[in-house]
Amino acid sequence: MEMKKYKFWFCTGSQDLYGDECLAKVAEHSQKIVEALNNSKKLPFEVVWKPTLITNELIRKTFNEANTDDTCAGVITWMHTFSPAKSWILGLQEYRKPLLHFHTQFNEEIPYDTIDMDFMNENQSAHGDREYGHIVSRMRMERKVVVGHWSDPVVVEKIANWMRTAVGVCESSHIRVMRIADNMRNVAVTEGDKVEAQIKFGWEVDAYPVNEITEAVKAVSVSDTNALVDEYYSKYNILLEGRDPEEFKRHVAVQAQIELGFERFLKEKNYHAIVTHFGDLGQLQQLPGLAIQRLMEKGYGFGAEGDWKVAAMVRLMKVMTANMKDAKGTSMMEDYTYNLIKGKEGILQSHMLEVCPSMADGEISIKCNPLSMGDREDPARLVFTSKEGSGIATSLIDLGNRFRLIINDVDCKKVEKPMPKLPVATNFWCPRPDFYTGAEAWILAGGAHHTAFTYDLTAEQMEDFAAMMGIEAVRIDKNTNINDFKKELMLGEVFYR
Ligand code: MN
Repeated sequence: MEMKKYKFWFCTGSQDLYGDECLAKVAEHSQKIVEALNNSKKLPFEVVWKPTLITNELIRKTFNEANTDDTCAGVITWMHTFSPAKSWILGLQEYRKPLLHFHTQFNEEIPYDTIDMDFMNENQSAHGDREYGHIVSRMRMERKVVVGHWSDPVVVEKIANWMRTAVGVCESSHIRVMRIADNMRNVAVTEGDKVEAQIKFGWEVDAYPVNEITEAVKAVSVSDTNALVDEYYSKYNILLEGRDPEEFKRHVAVQAQIELGFERFLKEKNYHAIVTHFGDLGQLQQLPGLAIQRLMEKGYGFGAEGDWKVAAMVRLMKVMTANMKDAKGTSMMEDYTYNLIKGKEGILQSHMLEVCPSMADGEISIKCNPLSMGDREDPARLVFTSKEGSGIATSLIDLGNRFRLIINDVDCKKVEKPMPKLPVATNFWCPRPDFYTGAEAWILAGGAHHTAFTYDLTAEQMEDFAAMMGIEAVRIDKNTNINDFKKELMLGEVFYR
């Protein structure tokens, strides 16, 4: 996935009370910290050192430059010494990007044998960061606070995680979703206020007649289609299951043509996510299955049955996890059916077709099977099972007066036995803290059956995203108990009124 080379600015606060010698040390220390952070190789984006901020004018100028520099995805602030916080008010007021308060200190240990008053005055972030933190809180500004020594890998990882959230915030503002079908008739949870979504998240959600994109599909040449079919046949296992090989290949070619046509249409019109509906296919020969699976793998967001909220969320998560080393996968998912055997409880996750192969564990096969819904020919689809491990399932819902993001920590497992008759890709997970509490809390919160799922982000990152967007987030995790969770929902009802 092509991503902009975002950078984060490192701004150190101080004042001129301590003399030039001290300020030289402040600059030297902050440069060393920036160098160490970049050399850690743990940060997904570069940190850029900025000259020490000591006056209102410079603080204001720096924050405004950060606003207008479109490669800057956020500012990291740290008060090496005391920096009177009134001098930060104007700059902070005008600042519009993600903010991290890095509460660190240059030295790790108190230098017991040599410490004197000069040392204390020079190294007082314990003091200066409290003054600065106060003004950010007083101004009710959303920011992340990361505490600890800059050489600690745990601390560096927290900064890395926040960076991905910050880039999500920056990229969210121009996510464009193409809908080629409206919401499935009578379905409630996939609906929502698109104008409010654009105000809150920046998402632009546009509708196109399905036959307009079908024209783009028809325009794909036979040779381009056949070349992609060849790629499919070299990459995936072909499961004929008694079908005629030539007939099978013709069905696969329909999906190849859809993939190419859709992608060209999306690129030409600059969209990052797409929404389809099995009941509204116009002149398309098949429900886009394999085609959508491949587009999701390339980083496009997807939502089924008109679900533009999930499409935008999948795109957002693809952006937040882009170029991540050892990423395990991100997809739209749907809670389908349960295993309720004691000790083996879990939710079988799937969809009619559209499950992203980035989650696949092992072999991926192509199958052609009838669709039990709709009136089109049997669509080709990729079939696989998914990786084990922890992940997060998220659902963004519209409560009428506000959005709520529901985030559930889940543990993905292998099902006990193969499911040879199931012609779709699957994942299988158990929600935390346990199946019963997790599902009860999800339903009480109003969570949907469609989710945006990833192995590669934490609940905290999505909570931070929600906080920066100014929306409610509720988390269902190892600490959830139903009594407290109900009170949290009641609190949200009042707070977000
Ligand atoms: Mn669905």
